[in-house]
Amino acid sequence: MKITRIITHVLEAPIENSFAFSQAWVDKRVGLVVEIETDSGLIGWGDGYGPPFALASVIDRYYAPRLIGRSPLAGDAIWEELYNALRDHGQRGVPVQALSALDIALWDLRGKALGQPVHVLMGGPIRDSVRGYATGLYRRSSTPAENRALLQAEAEGYLDAGFTAMKTKVGFGFRDDIELVEMLRDTIGPEIELFVDANHGCDLVQAKKLALAMEPLDIGWFEEPVEPEDLEGYAELRRTTSIPIAGGECSFTRHDFRRILEARAMDILQPDTASCGGLTEAKRIADMAWTHGARYQPHVWGTGIGLAAAMQLLAVLPTTTPAFGAHAPLLEYDSTPHPFRQDLLVEPIRVADGTAHVPQGPGLGVEVRRDVLERWRVR
Ligand code: CA
Repeated sequence: MKITRIITHVLEAPIENSFAFSQAWVDKRVGLVVEIETDSGLIGWGDGYGPPFALASVIDRYYAPRLIGRSPLAGDAIWEELYNALRDHGQRGVPVQALSALDIALWDLRGKALGQPVHVLMGGPIRDSVRGYATGLYRRSSTPAENRALLQAEAEGYLDAGFTAMKTKVGFGFRDDIELVEMLRDTIGPEIELFVDANHGCDLVQAKKLALAMEPLDIGWFEEPVEPEDLEGYAELRRTTSIPIAGGECSFTRHDFRRILEARAMDILQPDTASCGGLTEAKRIADMAWTHGARYQPHVWGTGIGLAAAMQLLAVLPTTTPAFGAHAPLLEYDSTPHPFRQDLLVEPIRVADGTAHVPQGPGLGVEVRRDVLERWRVR
């Protein structure tokens, strides 16, 4: 089997009701889907998390020519060759995100060629279903009181849908943040897990003050409190609060995560499979996290293809530590408006009664709808 063609699909769709995290209002959803064709007729699908036009350009110009004529079975060799091709100018960011999309597509192809789901080829399964948490509760109004009313109703919706965990956004200023988090804890009660995410929207002073105020609210983790470059800030915050500190969606490859682990900067690592280096690198990072006693909670923010890749990884993430009360990883289930995220799959991956099932078909275990791909394709 040889690779014959690589196609990049840049997808874009406007959304009706925009929403905000600490850095920006979101008014459209974008995605980069990569398709690898082979002379066997099999096709591999991948998803890259990053600026899609930039990812497409790196793939088209620099990576695709190196892949034509190669066997997709040589996964590790291809990974190292592509990483090394742009190492002097890359190491993180767009070149690694582009590599991630191709790596996921190559895993999909290998699974299809061998008739096995990716998680079996990665040594699993450890589990065939995972609990999902709802990622949502973004700011929807710039008036705090109006926003709280909207988010109260949204949180109640997640409870009605069977979610047992959910995540909201902070980083909008102390009073706005703490009043929102207090309202949410009050709304969902003590049994439901609640996480907060600042998208590195706090400096260390703000993060410490907010963490201290949130301590009585049983917060499952405080995600990206400060800038991803500031590992010392992460480590200092981690020592000053009992709330677990999470981060890593803006970090890349085992090299970044080695530094995070050595600095003991985070309790929970959150690499994005479609950004950190693909499934190949995610598994390496997961093994490192295990060795260092850190938890691994995959970040997920892509199309249904990226979601499928995350599910394959979740099937093989270790249970730390194997005991009756062991912690198992959760699926980050993006519940925000997105015109094509789920529509892209013939059989979408859903969380029902709080749980999602790992696709069992060959490769990523999902089938892509061409009509949806064409509808939102802008390049
Ligand atoms: Ca996040």
